[in-house]
Amino acid sequence: MPISDDTLDLEALQKKYIEERDKRLKVSGRSQYTVLEGDLAERFDTDIWASTDGAREPVVREFEAVIIGGGIGGMLAAGNLRNHGVAAENLCIVERGADFGGTWYWNRYPGLGCDTEAYCYLPLLEETGYIPTEKYAKGPELFEHSQRVGRHFGLYDNALFQTRATGAVWNEDTLRWTITTDRGDELAARYLLLCPGATNRPKLPGIPGIEAFAGHSFHTMRWDYRYTGGGPEGGMTGLADKRVGIIGTGCTAIQCAPPLAESSKELFVFQRTPSAVNVRANRPTDPQWAASLNPGWQMQRMENFLNVISGAPEEVDLVDDGWTRNLKNGRRVFEADKSRMDEKESIDLADFARMEEVRARVDAVVRDKATAEALKPWYGLLCKRPTFHDEYLQTFNRPNVTLVDTQGAGVDHITERGIVANGIEYPLDCIIFSTGFDVSAGIFGGLGFDPVGVGGLSLTNRLQQAFTSLHGILFSGFPNMFMIGGSQGTLATTRTYDLTIQTEHCARIMEYCRAHGVERMEVRQQAEAAWQTEMADKRVDHDGYFEACTPGLLNLEGRGGQVYDYYYGAGPVAYRGQIERWFAERIDDDLNLDSPAS
Ligand code: NDP
Repeated sequence: MPISDDTLDLEALQKKYIEERDKRLKVSGRSQYTVLEGDLAERFDTDIWASTDGAREPVVREFEAVIIGGGIGGMLAAGNLRNHGVAAENLCIVERGADFGGTWYWNRYPGLGCDTEAYCYLPLLEETGYIPTEKYAKGPELFEHSQRVGRHFGLYDNALFQTRATGAVWNEDTLRWTITTDRGDELAARYLLLCPGATNRPKLPGIPGIEAFAGHSFHTMRWDYRYTGGGPEGGMTGLADKRVGIIGTGCTAIQCAPPLAESSKELFVFQRTPSAVNVRANRPTDPQWAASLNPGWQMQRMENFLNVISGAPEEVDLVDDGWTRNLKNGRRVFEADKSRMDEKESIDLADFARMEEVRARVDAVVRDKATAEALKPWYGLLCKRPTFHDEYLQTFNRPNVTLVDTQGAGVDHITERGIVANGIEYPLDCIIFSTGFDVSAGIFGGLGFDPVGVGGLSLTNRLQQAFTSLHGILFSGFPNMFMIGGSQGTLATTRTYDLTIQTEHCARIMEYCRAHGVERMEVRQQAEAAWQTEMADKRVDHDGYFEACTPGLLNLEGRGGQVYDYYYGAGPVAYRGQIERWFAERIDDDLNLDSPAS
């Protein structure tokens, strides 16, 4: 039921939000998480999906392009290179996993699904002629689609799976990159594309005793079906006699807690901060709608979605879901009564009203009053990524499910027998860490090696000297190299959009170089400087908003600042306009384009 602004006690709500934030600030910051190395890495970060150890002979070969990373970014890069006639047969993807998919390769937990609409989220739907079966497709379908993209573009031919790149060095004499790997490969490449993604390593809380637990434990990114039985659709018969604890209540736990509750003898959900759980309303794809789609529909739909949720004018809301309705509500409140309040007040009001609806939903669904109270999120709508689910809250009505609310403190420690929270020990057979991805190293750290450019300068040193790039893609001193998905680029709610437009842009630059006989392409520093000015000019000041937020990924765990400062502030659709205009007008001025004759 919509909440009217007259019923809101804004002062009391603001006070409550600050109290709840302050509880959590005590435990915030990166240091609360442990570093995954040695035994812990062995236990929580090995590839349990690979069926072999991947042993093979080293490859020594020259390629037109080598792509590091076979997730959505890497596959989009390869697909776009093929579409633009670059490296048609002569392209290699180096990937740590044993198949394509990235996030969808590593994450196979029960209940997994995409949290934004699949018609926008899944890459290359028009090229592959595939339409997802549901509005929010499930994990296995997302992984299968990655394989479909791999087959469609012939990417399996030269892919080096179960392989980590260990180095990439630019050679000014041969005008080639030399890429080395942990399998002894030595690859030469005219172009190097870095698509590592930032969300491919599990993150564990740095609480004492993780090693001491005598039962079974794993992270949601490496769901251990050998122990639980069943599969992504549920049916985990191995848990029928088990007391299971899950730590974390973010987007992942929201999706996997319901099937876990169905299969476990008892489930204990350890909560530090409740998520905002909105209505999902998933549904099968309407075949008539699918048949009615015209060429270009996917990009149009993605941009319509991004415009609607950012408040940019759009006549229709094509996606029409929880994301778009939540943010449209905000604008409606603003438009409703301009005379009584200024813009900021009205947006604040809409934010409080939307979260009040989220809290009212908890009361409407969860029968036990104390549990319902503990499941209510007390922070602004945009402080954490909102979640959408129609079975998560209902799970707490089951007799075998207990919410252990730690009031913002987190679990105390882990013993040989189980988890201690609020000073009470909960004996368990199995502990599941749903504690997120390690993004602390950023996209550059996620590479796992440090590219070395002109004059032997490493990328890390170069960025320490000057954290500059053009569009987050090109770096002076690093010729013929492209970074995908990094800072100074763009950060959309539907990440596939960013990766689509950036990889297409890179392919266009390479196509241009090929057409003009260019062997060596390097961005000029003046172009990087101009991009820094544009970034500063378009920075949006969200500081006040995020300061008042409970700690999380978006406000850098409460350390001050916000993740959006690292990306183009005018938003993803404007970013696309920028790179397209740049390509049409500035490529010759902003790049050093050396051909043998020049
Ligand atoms: P998150 O980082 O969002 O959540 C981690 C959870 O662990 C939080 O609830 C956190 O609490 C909790 N936690 C951490 N330490 C402790 C502790 N010591 N005691 C108790 N609880 C603790 O990870 P997720 O895996 O849920 O999501 C990661 C990202 O993946 C998100 O950005 C999400 O958008 C994305 N995702 C996307 C999906 C999709 O379909 N596209 C599906 C699933 C995830 P607190 O909130 O207090 O920090």
